[in-house]
Amino acid sequence: MNKIKVVTKSPSETIELGKKLGRYADKGKIIFLEGNLGAGKTTLVKGISEYYQCTQIAKSPTFILITTYTGKINVNHCDFFRLNYSEEIFDLALEEYLENGNLIIEWPEIAKKYLPEPDLKINIEFDGITQKREIIIHSNAKIEV
Ligand code: ADP
Ligand code: MG
Repeated sequence: MNKIKVVTKSPSETIELGKKLGRYADKGKIIFLEGNLGAGKTTLVKGISEYYQCTQIAKSPTFILITTYTGKINVNHCDFFRLNYSEEIFDLALEEYLENGNLIIEWPEIAKKYLPEPDLKINIEFDGITQKREIIIHSNAKIEV
């Protein structure tokens, strides 16, 4: 696995990073986003959905586990924070989403035993005080941002 680290200092820098990572999140790709609440996972998804020129703005889904933003591809944004038990993901038919889009998963930890290895695994670290975010990107392919 390749590993790179990027530090951002504002939400807009994280969105910019998401735009640069967009090309690695094409149709059929699976992306895991890890990091505590408020780390910036959803902010990063905003950048990826901008890259694919999706019209809707990415936000944290409240009651639904998966939201599709349509653009050049479907950006399928999952948030498993509210899963009660990991088997709930079987009802989502996740593989079908990969035909026309990617799958970007916040809180993949919760259902990890039923998920395949991701193409990208992104971990966002923050101190809970400042706007600094350390974003560690693991990938099978070599990536440049
Ligand atoms: P998560 O999805 O990980 O819970 P969000 O992206 O919804 O996190 O929220 C991140 C919060 O942190 C937002 O309020 C955003 O404005 C703020 N923030 C501050 N600095 C940054 C940064 N460098 N990158 C991303 N978000 C940041
Ligand atoms: Mg979120």
